[in-house]
Amino acid sequence: MAIGTARGTHEAKARGALALVPDGVHLIGGDWSAAASGETIEVVDPASGDVLRRVPRGGADDVAAAVSAAAAAFPRWRDMSPTARAELIHRWGDLCIQHGEEIAILECLEVGKPFRGPSTIGERAIYFAGLADKVTGDTLPSARPDVLGITLREPYGVCGSIVPWNFPPSLMMGDVAPAISAGNTIVVKPPEDAPLACLYVGKLALDAGIPPGVVNVVTGIGGEAGAALPLHPLVRHMSFTGSPETGSKVMAACAQRLIPLHLELGGKSPQIVLRDADLSAAVPSIVRNFTNNAGQVCVAGTRLVVEDALHDEIVDKVAAEMAKVRVGPWYEDVDMGPLISAKQERRVLGYLGIGREEGAEVIVGGKKMSGDKFDRGFFVEPTLFDGVMPHMRVAQEEIFGPVLSVLSAQDVDEAVEIANGTRYGLGASIWTRDIKKAIQAAKRIESGQVYINQYGSAGVIGAPFGGYKNSGFGRTGSAETILEYTQLKAVVFNAGG
Ligand code: NAD
Repeated sequence: MAIGTARGTHEAKARGALALVPDGVHLIGGDWSAAASGETIEVVDPASGDVLRRVPRGGADDVAAAVSAAAAAFPRWRDMSPTARAELIHRWGDLCIQHGEEIAILECLEVGKPFRGPSTIGERAIYFAGLADKVTGDTLPSARPDVLGITLREPYGVCGSIVPWNFPPSLMMGDVAPAISAGNTIVVKPPEDAPLACLYVGKLALDAGIPPGVVNVVTGIGGEAGAALPLHPLVRHMSFTGSPETGSKVMAACAQRLIPLHLELGGKSPQIVLRDADLSAAVPSIVRNFTNNAGQVCVAGTRLVVEDALHDEIVDKVAAEMAKVRVGPWYEDVDMGPLISAKQERRVLGYLGIGREEGAEVIVGGKKMSGDKFDRGFFVEPTLFDGVMPHMRVAQEEIFGPVLSVLSAQDVDEAVEIANGTRYGLGASIWTRDIKKAIQAAKRIESGQVYINQYGSAGVIGAPFGGYKNSGFGRTGSAETILEYTQLKAVVFNAGG
């Protein structure tokens, strides 16, 4: 969906959205404040290279101020009636829906993704608001008549959340909503490349009446503000979404402090197509699910695993579908935008070279895009590699760009073996009309979500999302998620004295 056809319309909307986030400040204890060091970092429009805004280059001092604010806000927030907490979080969700267009535009501006309508992150807040007063313990069996045992689920206290740049407001909400619904307070470190929508969503929490200090947003660079967060002595629980390499560092910091961690990492998700699949449904979905957000999606379906019998036909059809992918800046009626940064563009172009060197054949795309519309931004062609072998790096490593690798399998068994043959296990789709094969494969695939004849969990409310193997642990977006932000206490009453 384009946002106004006249150039002036999108520019006015962009100006309006940017005006919602003041320059050079982040949100600590309910106030906009500059970094303790006074330093800032630039946030750049990836379609043009223009500087959108400056945000504080927060460091350990800013993290400490935010953690203190969160610790001060915790007792009152914890002790508030869960119904009252739910009402405030619900109001926050309503405000996020009401201002969904502004949230989406900020995200489009800083990430480069095409505008597809207002943000729906408010629904996520409302889902978890509904769970706030349904966190219950158990009554335990007693071995003696005069003893009663129960369990209580209690919040940890101050939580930390580190968010990557591909879907910042939605991933922030995925951590914050369950954490605060359970009675915790939180400090969020948004990505340095795309912190603006997160700052605005944090401000909306205050507008909703959530007390200052419950949600804090500290901007800064990963190795500085990010590294300081899990190491702060008052942080009792961490959530991290990002690359396995950084996840491992955050986990080491949590290990040093002996605090729990919710970890959402990358993927190399397979889209398996069996010979009896409905290709008219499968092919558009396959293409959409590796070009969405220019492939910068942890659960992007970047390996196409096809039964031999179907190979030539599906490669032709996917190539034809890819020719329809329209690329351009966020405000045009396009399917794909630029990559987020020059760094990410170098990474993706590097993998295009690696694939060729390994002997994969480029069927479509394969290079940086050029022309007036593309020269100032980080645009890379959607690319189809055929003849990919399971051991190749383009079949094993997360590229995080619009690159699809085709792998052939003799039958469903080999397809599942290939699907399972990476370090990752986040999502997987199986396209077939044979329900028996679909069920068997779904059970054998090692991944946190499996989709049959669609890609993604659209249509399901509260589907747990998370990884097997190196894709992480912990589940986001489901009723179980709120329990991850609680600790279990057993209380024993002795009536006998
Ligand atoms: P990244 O790991 O570089 O950065 C993620 C976040 O960690 C950023 O906020 C960054 O500032 C911070 N960070 C960087 N170094 C840090 C350090 N030493 N200590 C603490 N924090 C640090 O990842 P990215 O490039 O921003 O995002 C891309 C990766 O994220 C991909 O691998 C992708 O698959 C993964 N991802 C996973 C999910 C999921 O839900 N599983 C969702 C989105 C992205």
